[in-house]
Amino acid sequence: MPFSRLQLQLEERASSGLLRLRHTLAGPQGAHVEVDGKRYVSFSSNDYLGLAGHPRVARALCSGAEIHGVGAGAAHLVTGHSIAHERLERELAAFVGKPSALLFSTGYMANIGVVQALLGRNDTVYADRLNHASLNDAMLLSHATVRRYRHSDLDQLERMLGETSNGQKLVMTDAVFSMDGDRAPLPELLALCEQHDAWLLIDDAHGFGVSGMRGRGSLSHFGIDSPRIIYMATLGKAAGVSGAFVAAEKVVIETLINNARSYIYTTATPPALSVALSESLVLIDEADEARGHLQALIKHLRKSLEGIRWRLMESQTPIQPLLIGKNQEATDVSMGLRERGIWVVAIRPPTVPDGTARLRIALSSRHDFSDIDNLAKALHEIAR
Ligand SMILES: *Cc1c(COP(=O)(O)O)cnc(C)c1O
Repeated sequence: MPFSRLQLQLEERASSGLLRLRHTLAGPQGAHVEVDGKRYVSFSSNDYLGLAGHPRVARALCSGAEIHGVGAGAAHLVTGHSIAHERLERELAAFVGKPSALLFSTGYMANIGVVQALLGRNDTVYADRLNHASLNDAMLLSHATVRRYRHSDLDQLERMLGETSNGQKLVMTDAVFSMDGDRAPLPELLALCEQHDAWLLIDDAHGFGVSGMRGRGSLSHFGIDSPRIIYMATLGKAAGVSGAFVAAEKVVIETLINNARSYIYTTATPPALSVALSESLVLIDEADEARGHLQALIKHLRKSLEGIRWRLMESQTPIQPLLIGKNQEATDVSMGLRERGIWVVAIRPPTVPDGTARLRIALSSRHDFSDIDNLAKALHEIAR
């Protein structure tokens, strides 16, 4: 058996209840889904505005395919860069108020590309300990020195920034932490970056479309802007499609085009996806009512879970994690919900620190108050 070592590792994982499995969705993503042949209310997608299955986005995708065909057929720097990509990049830059923007195939690739392209051996990355895996991988894959600071600990970061180093400094953070739902203190981080002449890479995967004026994201939420900010957001979450973009000063974007290996050495995404995303941007812009409803749902959920024996983590965003602690207990609660027709995944180590297994409850504007009532009722029942 050439792979007995792998078999053994998987068996070990399974016996500690950490084997990762996939479930198969029939039909579109949304607040209500069919999984393995059964209907569920789902609190486990990042489709915060219900755009993943929106008929206008689907129609735009079809018409995009009719106009541009399906495959891009080459990398952006060869012949894969279409007028649809170009137009979307201009729209995204204008949407978030930056001079220039660049599309990547995924958020994972965008983060890896940015850090590799902008930093070298003599430079230093400062990273929040709870950053997304793609930012962690980005810093480990780069040749820069890595310093990790405790979650949102500005004092520790300030001390680290003050310790002399010659090269360029880059602070990087999730804007909304993906497994915790809390916001990074962006104005304070920006002030520190200004003091220490550092660049600030902000990953707004969970803020774009949801936070800020007309969905402009976390910069707008805090009312901050600066040329030293390199803004990155993903397009497969609130925007409901796929991909990611980086928005920044022109010189940064030019450098990415010339240096970012995850941009250069990969086929461009299908142009039709960009056509669909242009439609998503219009829908995000118009979605004030949906964002208002989402805020009301967050309030309602937090009120409905008062007094339960698990702690709802401090969060004002659609990511509302219920901290359970033990892996097995988190899995049991998740299974209890599933038996009641409710889908909430348990998030366990190594995605989150040991001893902090949790239910990551993610709300969508397509939920209604009765969905929240049913979730709360089920959780109170299981807690007893
Ligand atoms: C999802 C996510 C990514 C990765 O984006 P993909 O487009 O899914 O590759 C990056 N950063 C954060 C914070 C995320 O939540």
